[in-house]
Amino acid sequence: MKRVRYQSIDGVHWGEVEHDVVWQLTGMVGRRSGLRTPLPDVTLLAPCEPRMIVCVGKNYLGHVREMGGAGAARPQEPGIFLKGVNTLIGPGDPIPYPAWSEELHYEGELAVVIARRLSRVSEEQALAYVLGFTCACDVTARDKQRSDLQWTRAKSADGFCPVGPWLETELEPGELELRTYVNGELRQQGNTRDLIFGVPALLSYVSSFMTLEAGDLVLTGTPEGVGPLVIGDEVEVAISGIGSLENTVEVG
Ligand code: MG
Repeated sequence: MKRVRYQSIDGVHWGEVEHDVVWQLTGMVGRRSGLRTPLPDVTLLAPCEPRMIVCVGKNYLGHVREMGGAGAARPQEPGIFLKGVNTLIGPGDPIPYPAWSEELHYEGELAVVIARRLSRVSEEQALAYVLGFTCACDVTARDKQRSDLQWTRAKSADGFCPVGPWLETELEPGELELRTYVNGELRQQGNTRDLIFGVPALLSYVSSFMTLEAGDLVLTGTPEGVGPLVIGDEVEVAISGIGSLENTVEVG
């Protein structure tokens, strides 16, 4: 089932999509209220309300090698970092290209939204805490990632985390095809079977030191093929079984 967060004429709601109709829910994990709206009459928003956006760097070997050279070692444990909630934008929202960067990159990624509090769970238990899966772009100011002392500016500028268009709530994350297009040209092609740390391992690892709450967002890493964006580019992250997230780069 596709779960959406949307703006309609009477406010922001959660809903479920069925045959081009949005059935309003009483909350993110709520029940149907009985109200419905045609899908074209609503504006879809980022399908999560996170306190925390947790990310992993270098989770596909192809990307490890494009960043660190052909001999770069496979990570022995996940390299976790955070993006601020100020980065969150929805489907169709503009990605702001800030004046202080000259090398803005796309990173198409599978994203996970947490259904309920998650702390110190095993890999076997982890998927039971997932509400659904969606597409995300871990927008990165690559020049500042190299030159700044920390990654905060490079990863957490306003609008650097487009997410959507909805959560797919009934999906096995182990073998999903991920493609990133820029202006319709294929730039990244990966499959979640190649994740070094798959979704259960990643959630178990994060939960070993950090409690995640309902609505929190976890980005699972990007495959090889990252590259630059320019103002006016249309970025699309498409994942099998979910759909496509589209955003355009604008002057930030
Ligand atoms: Mg990334």
